[in-house]
Amino acid sequence: MQMMDGKLVSEEILEKLKLDVEDCRKQDIDPTLAVILVGDDPASAIYVKNKEKACAKVGITSLAYRLPADTQERELLDLLADLNERPDVHAILLQLPLPAHLNSDRLLAAISAEKDADGFHAANIGKLLLQQPAPLPCTPAGVMELLKYYQIDIAGKECVVIGRSNIVGKPMALMLLNAHGTVTVTHSKTRDLPAVCRRADILVVAVGKAKMITSDYIKPGAVVIDVGIHRMENGKLCGDVDDSEGHAAYLTPVPGGVGPMTIAMLMKNCVTAARNSAL
Ligand code: NAP
Repeated sequence: MQMMDGKLVSEEILEKLKLDVEDCRKQDIDPTLAVILVGDDPASAIYVKNKEKACAKVGITSLAYRLPADTQERELLDLLADLNERPDVHAILLQLPLPAHLNSDRLLAAISAEKDADGFHAANIGKLLLQQPAPLPCTPAGVMELLKYYQIDIAGKECVVIGRSNIVGKPMALMLLNAHGTVTVTHSKTRDLPAVCRRADILVVAVGKAKMITSDYIKPGAVVIDVGIHRMENGKLCGDVDDSEGHAAYLTPVPGGVGPMTIAMLMKNCVTAARNSAL
């Protein structure tokens, strides 16, 4: 079984982006990402720190807005409106999940589509569907980059995606379809999930349940992408996949698989937004 090394591939992408940032600077553009974190969810705080670290690595300026958990929607909408207007801010990221009193759909929609670092804006999802250039949702875009790096041919392949969330499953399915895969999207109401999964040449697992997808779901020789990330009781991380019988020909590790690719794609969206600001 070949492990797909997301850390290595993401570092190569970050190195290239560093050069792009230097190019931007030559044109007097200082690529800048505004990151908004509301409340004190510990996992979100770690994600935001990692994103800031990646910004520092490629030379993107990151502006952090750490706001208290009781921040009102009006204040956030005002902040987003201000950031949308500022020419020195090229991309905006609102870290999810938000505290329960805030409407994330309404707030995400308030980020201008051009500055949408995460690629979650309805206009950008629409462009993905229509295969027009737009910031892409980072996790599925990272999966596509990994498949490309390992020269996994998608055209004509049976691709099964487990999960239909707006941020992973659905855009993942669209990207595989756009790459000419034959795509099946599965979810909690799917009948006989193991049998559907065993059809897959490429299986993307974003079910959000630790080690649920055992070897029984995996056709021997399949490419398996494990999007899940969970902290176990012993403090270690694990994914949604537990291929103990080694059916997969290619598998992403957790950690070090899809996670770092997601951050690299976020950086890519920021650099692209900065470049586009000059057009
Ligand atoms: P989510 O919104 O909870 O979606 C989970 C999906 O799995 C839903 O569509 C759900 O179906 C489906 N599902 C749940 N139980 C199922 C079952 N028993 N059989 C079949 N389908 C089932 O999760 P998400 O945001 O997409 O994230 C998925 C996982 O990826 C999580 O572990 C998350 O932490 C991780 N993640 C990692 C990264 C990264 O950078 N590595 C980024 C994002 C997410 P229904 O729609 O029918 O409920």
